[in-house]
Amino acid sequence: MKTELFGLFTHEIAAAIIPCGLEQYRAKQIGEWLYRHGVENFIDMKNIPLTQRILLDSQFTIIKSKVRCAQHAADKSTDKYLLEYQDGAAVETVLMRHKYGNSICVSTQVGCAMGCRFCASSLLGKSRDLSTGEILRQVLFIQQILKQEGSKLHSLVIMGTGEPLENYDNVLRFMRLCHEPYCLNLSYRHMTLSTSGLVPQIDALADEGLPITLSISLHAPNNSVRSELMPINKKYPIELLLSAADRYAAKTGRRVTYEYILLQGINSLPEQARELAVLLRGRLANVNLIPANPVPERGILRPNSSSVREFLTILQQRGITATVRKEMGSDIQAACGQLRYQSFKGISKSE
Ligand code: SF4
Repeated sequence: MKTELFGLFTHEIAAAIIPCGLEQYRAKQIGEWLYRHGVENFIDMKNIPLTQRILLDSQFTIIKSKVRCAQHAADKSTDKYLLEYQDGAAVETVLMRHKYGNSICVSTQVGCAMGCRFCASSLLGKSRDLSTGEILRQVLFIQQILKQEGSKLHSLVIMGTGEPLENYDNVLRFMRLCHEPYCLNLSYRHMTLSTSGLVPQIDALADEGLPITLSISLHAPNNSVRSELMPINKKYPIELLLSAADRYAAKTGRRVTYEYILLQGINSLPEQARELAVLLRGRLANVNLIPANPVPERGILRPNSSSVREFLTILQQRGITATVRKEMGSDIQAACGQLRYQSFKGISKSE
């Protein structure tokens, strides 16, 4: 069995290669080849002697992925990829070109077990967690595209398929690795992690002392609506969730973002906006309103634009900082998980 090197910190790479006779300083060189240059073969690590490159190739592996399918927005703002790993598992990764810079949205699990009603990612359940290296491979893949365009990465959102806090250790390692100078050298302040609301893990994350932005998928102004939409609410109801978010904000000094997907006939009525305003009053919070992307398989509909505007105005009039998320690449804005789901259905049909 070969050992996987992609996804290791340089001190871990050193611990793996020194017993094979390589010098300690080679670990930093390997780390730079893997993470800064994105090479996928040891043989391409040109500043390492050929004999050592051959030895590395015989003992170690580097995670690879290939594009199973891709969608590109006509306005060039958004590219969505379904990346397949060597075992055939596939996840979505999205590149978004904002005015302020390029952002990548990564997946952390193959599918999702959380069962949120509005989300296509959970339609097939969860197959497995992604490793640190598999999550990072998504970023390196996009990074190579940006390099070819003479552009670079500005920020990272951990908001794709999966509940990142259910894959806590790998996701934490991933963020720390992205921050390393020999990797992406990305500031924690340019990282956002989104959770459906795993309270113990939110507290654990607050204790890590990383100044990342925490984004809570709230999506409802009360427990009865939220439990209908998000089964996790039965385990960690809104009061517990908001208390954990408050503790996170107090410990990190970071404003928590509350994501609120607007679903017609479910959570987008004016009285629900008023209820939400009461819930968040006095909290260090931002509300991000997201008009729903229809999920035909789940009967999800989007409210009209005047209902969206009214919802926003009610929040703002009550002193809540709120915005409507800018729509990007609307021609490919199939909901999160749709590309993978459609691909899976296509494969099933052809089998
Ligand atoms: S919204 Fe997030 S947590 Fe909920 S099912 Fe989708 S991927 Fe999972």
